[in-house]
Amino acid sequence: MSWKTTTHPLFDKEHLAAYCSEHNIPAFRIKQIMHGVFGDHHIDINEITTLSKELRAQLNASFHINTLKVENIVEWPESTKFLFSMPDETMIETVLMYHWHEKKSFKTRQRKILRSWTKPDISSETHTLNRITICISSQVWCAVWCIFCVTWKLWFKKNLDWSEMLMQIQYANNYIKQKFGKKDDGTRRKVRNVVFMGMGEPMFNYEHMKKSITYMLDQQALWLSKRHITISTSWVANAIRQLVDDKIDVRLALSLHAPNQPLRLELIPMIAKKRPLDELMETIDYYVKKTWNRLFYEYIMIQNKTDTPEIAHELGQLLQKRNAHVNLIPYNENPAMPELTTSEFDVIMAFKKIVEQYWVTVTVRDTLWRDVKWACGQLGYEKVEEGL
Ligand code: SF4
Repeated sequence: MSWKTTTHPLFDKEHLAAYCSEHNIPAFRIKQIMHGVFGDHHIDINEITTLSKELRAQLNASFHINTLKVENIVEWPESTKFLFSMPDETMIETVLMYHWHEKKSFKTRQRKILRSWTKPDISSETHTLNRITICISSQVWCAVWCIFCVTWKLWFKKNLDWSEMLMQIQYANNYIKQKFGKKDDGTRRKVRNVVFMGMGEPMFNYEHMKKSITYMLDQQALWLSKRHITISTSWVANAIRQLVDDKIDVRLALSLHAPNQPLRLELIPMIAKKRPLDELMETIDYYVKKTWNRLFYEYIMIQNKTDTPEIAHELGQLLQKRNAHVNLIPYNENPAMPELTTSEFDVIMAFKKIVEQYWVTVTVRDTLWRDVKWACGQLGYEKVEEGL
């Protein structure tokens, strides 16, 4: 059943300030409200008990903290996937990823990942929860046709607004509070990293993405480090230039996936047709020159398609002298696309070695053991399976 939202997001600071001044509510209440939402991770106005009962009732009539309704939660030791419905009955998915560490260095962990594809045993005796990353959606389904992703098969429905992007994080923080409690030092566990890597192309929803980022960085709101926010894009040139002009200095990850135009056309036909590879690299060079930021390149490893030695050399040549960090993402196999298979372990290692010859940093994403239904490119899998 659909329901209507007639109220306004409580955490919209400007709107809240105007409301408080109009209703003679003292300004210190704004601070209390923002702390209740972003510091104490409440998702219901009635839970903010620092406010009087009367004030909570008054706010309830005009505001909401959360309009996402959780329809399903699936949990694994390394992750949690939420399926949310929205007031207009559209659905999105959001994924939490738990980074359990064995108290070993990054290099040691990478070596371990590279030695084996097998799933590690996570136990609280040997592992500690180091940090939590959230992968948020920016659109309902997606209009970019990446052939290795099931999300676009559901077709694009609509853009999310900035508050709906934040609500995913707020809901997750509330969930984390209940699931993990506080840390040993008494501080709250919460989302530390945000990646715009869920459903949708965030750069197609630029203004709302931008506004949500200002709240992520705001000290009175989520107060995340700019280094802990990543926009993952398959490339929207004007939006990348706009990022520079707007001085949005968060991390940028480019879904490259192919070092030449024909392969790019095959893998990401819509974007590649509109903007050829040369133009893409020109925009990237402009971005790097203006921001001095290092760019992260996501590269999917699909057997006999993107993983040959020739392509590895091409990728190395393309990215050498570009201060690049390439993240090789083994393709997550999916019954909805039986024609694609992930690259063999040895092939990925050989590919990595070749690209490194060009002085490019290369890592392999440690997601191999992740369940098919929540890994990269698999969001919406159940819906595709249902034939919706
Ligand atoms: S990989 Fe991302 S951009 Fe490509 S279709 Fe899937 S959700 Fe859209």
